[in-house]
Amino acid sequence: MKNWGFKISQARIIDLDKANTKMFEDLCLKVPSAKRCIMCGGCSATCTASNHTNFNFRNCNLMFRRGQFEGLAEELDKCMLCGKCKLVCPRGVNTRAIIYNMRIILNKMNYKNIEL
Ligand code: SF4
Ligand code: SF4
Repeated sequence: MKNWGFKISQARIIDLDKANTKMFEDLCLKVPSAKRCIMCGGCSATCTASNHTNFNFRNCNLMFRRGQFEGLAEELDKCMLCGKCKLVCPRGVNTRAIIYNMRIILNKMNYKNIEL
């Protein structure tokens, strides 16, 4: 095959009808404000962990919503639960509680044993 010096990315299709959204519904029972997130990224812009790692709360939240749990526990492990993100959220989302509860849910699902 001819090498054109570039390649086309693999198609990445997410079928939301087949996604496991049950865990996100469970999370919303514990932290109702999780539903208010509009993925603006304000929390990530101010995040302490993001300053030192590639941690991104918005991305973690999106993965959890879609039921994409692989590798998520390791990502959430980077959060220090300092709560700065909660202070800047324009939608009043309790981000800290979301992260804490996502960790508990993933632990129960045996995605990885992490310290809570
Ligand atoms: S700042 Fe609030 S609304 Fe924006 S992405 Fe973060 S949690 Fe969601
Ligand atoms: S609680 Fe976690 S996600 Fe929020 S600012 Fe602190 S380190 Fe970042």
